[in-house]
Amino acid sequence: MDFAIPAHIAPTLERIDQLLADRVIPAEREVLERGWVASASVLDELRAAVKAAGLWGPQIPKELGGMGLGLVDHGLVSERLGRSPLGHYSFGAQAPDAGNLEVLHKWGSPAQKARWLEPLARGEIRSCFSMTEPENPGSNPVILSCAAVKDGDDYIIDGHKWFTSSADGAAFAIVMAVTDPAAAPHGRASMIIVPTDAPGFELVRNIPIMGDTGAGWASHAEIRYHSVRVPQSNRLGAEGAGFLIAQERLGPGRIHHCMRWIGICERVFGLMCERAATRKIDDEKTLASRQIIQSWVAEARAEIDAARLLVLRAAWTIEHQGFHAARDQVSIIKFFVSDVMMRLVDRAIQVHGALGITSDTILAHYYVHERGARIYDGPDEVHKMVVSRRILDRYGAKR
Ligand SMILES: Cc1cc2nc3c(=O)[nH]c(=O)nc-3n(C[C@H](O)[C@H](O)[C@H](O)COP(=O)(O)OP(=O)(O)OC[C@H]3O[C@@H](n4cnc5c(N)ncnc54)[C@H](O)[C@@H]3O)c2cc1C
Repeated sequence: MDFAIPAHIAPTLERIDQLLADRVIPAEREVLERGWVASASVLDELRAAVKAAGLWGPQIPKELGGMGLGLVDHGLVSERLGRSPLGHYSFGAQAPDAGNLEVLHKWGSPAQKARWLEPLARGEIRSCFSMTEPENPGSNPVILSCAAVKDGDDYIIDGHKWFTSSADGAAFAIVMAVTDPAAAPHGRASMIIVPTDAPGFELVRNIPIMGDTGAGWASHAEIRYHSVRVPQSNRLGAEGAGFLIAQERLGPGRIHHCMRWIGICERVFGLMCERAATRKIDDEKTLASRQIIQSWVAEARAEIDAARLLVLRAAWTIEHQGFHAARDQVSIIKFFVSDVMMRLVDRAIQVHGALGITSDTILAHYYVHERGARIYDGPDEVHKMVVSRRILDRYGAKR
């Protein structure tokens, strides 16, 4: 067992760190204050610098212009990029495009790849993933109302979705819609590409998140599909394969998210320690002299290290033994890392006092915009239930 950063990826990580320090982190304040749409030119410049450095699309296959990294290597990169809210976007590794790109690469037809995948990989267009519905439990996504009904060579799609992240300005949505209501629950739905300029596609609003409506990529939309007509050739994979594809999309996606969260943890941990070491609480002593703060620092260090090892183990298992072998590990990292992150953000805010809830540090941004981590990609409680059931089954537990 080797815990060292692999030699083949170490120089890349160093170059990424440098680019983050020199270009990306200094641009943060402007982008977060002015908003993502108003800051388009700043973000375009960052992306151009990343491309010029040959660091574009760490997870994008080489034939599509990316670096083609495997899951463990990309996990390590994702940790670095997570240190800035602009990191993944600047490097072309942002959700939901990264997941959609994987789906199109694996399941897309040649025509779908030419029209959607290639410009997506180059960062010329954006996309979104439209599954969750306000009227139905997202935690049990087989319950869906959005329907795609065949009409000649087309589907007519009617539905109401929300939390379709990054729909604002996206060129297309991958919509999860019921294509066969009579099928078994996991065979009812299909994924269908819907261009956002199709008649009947209505972006109702960007949903305010704890007071921040967001814009462009950094937004979450409510959408109505009013009898939207698309050709059946816009379906991804076989009819009824929607959940199968979603499962594949979520496995690597959770590794990307979890390593991004570790990156956030490292940044927040640094801020917490810096503040503790410098904030005087009397004429001589700083916060760092207090046992409760020391205890938070030690606990946070242990939790981040544990979280990181768990995620890298899950990435390794997926890469070497497939997703099925890693099912429990992936569920464990989903609830464990999101919890570590949110507890740490909260404690770091506490250490900063009133400053912690201002926008003068990055902490308040994380508090607002990362709280969703415990809800999306399967709420934590569902992952805990799934893991514990499999464990307890082995003990013959009756449910
Ligand atoms: C920031 C953010 C971004 C998102 N982006 C997207 C996106 O791009 N595309 C998309 O389609 N969706 C997206 N979602 C939606 C997300 O997938 C759903 O919110 C999630 O699946 C939970 O569904 P729900 O909100 O309907 O909660 P519900 O299903 O109503 O569940 C509510 C709560 O009930 C509890 N719960 C649920 N089931 C159980 C159980 N079995 N046992 C115990 N407790 C349980 C959990 O605490 C859960 O949080 C996003 C959500 C967030 C917060």
